[in-house]
Amino acid sequence: MSGGRAQELATSLGEVRQRVAEAERAAGRPPGDVVLVVVTKTFPASDVRLLAAGGAVDVGESREPEAGRKAVECADLGLRWHQVGQVQTRKAAAVAAWADVVHSVDRARLVGALERGHRRALDEGARPEGHVLEVLLQVDLAEDPAGDGERGGASPRELAELADAVEAAEGLRLGGLMAVAPLGVDPREPFARLAQLSARLRRDHPGAAAVSAGMSGDLEAAVAAGATHVRVGRAVLGARPPIV
Ligand SMILES: *Cc1c(COP(=O)(O)O)cnc(C)c1O
Repeated sequence: MSGGRAQELATSLGEVRQRVAEAERAAGRPPGDVVLVVVTKTFPASDVRLLAAGGAVDVGESREPEAGRKAVECADLGLRWHQVGQVQTRKAAAVAAWADVVHSVDRARLVGALERGHRRALDEGARPEGHVLEVLLQVDLAEDPAGDGERGGASPRELAELADAVEAAEGLRLGGLMAVAPLGVDPREPFARLAQLSARLRRDHPGAAAVSAGMSGDLEAAVAAGATHVRVGRAVLGARPPIV
């Protein structure tokens, strides 16, 4: 573990924390209102360890089996693990064995698969007794729903039914909503729509208050629109090789 990398990560983590703090202030929100999830996908467990030493508590991952391996390797750090990317149904059980929060639930089949996987993880002792898996519903904010299918997400009109499915699932807790701003548009408009969808969801599910939005390029717009969680990768860890 090189001192150079430790320094680099400490500096960039500090810069991103500063950006979040300034965005909170600009929005008239109290300091510390927004959870910074540092997205470590494609980066080694040694980086996660350095970030934890620098005070990071929430880390995000995206791909099996890399994510699960890293979570096991870093189990001693007491971190909170977030699955931020799309989850294939057949990988749901693997994700349920390490994730504390799954941000990207967009279909009923995945809810069932996570419920079963989580129950198995409890039975096998991979999760402590009473562990609850928090689930966010990913919304597709593209105006043209066919245009951005790559990133996943349920359509806004599917949310009520999906929310009920999560509430009915044992061991899962409905935490709120998540979205990725569509490419090539001003993110303020889709983030404002996300805030409206969140308000609507909370009428029926008052505890589902999380709004996960904002990444390296648009975290300020997300915090201004009321995001409770930002998911930041590149601005902390640097450029990553493209994942396929
Ligand atoms: C990779 C990823 C991020 C982090 O994106 P950066 O641009 O590196 O900040 C956030 N959210 C999701 C869903 C991701 O897959």
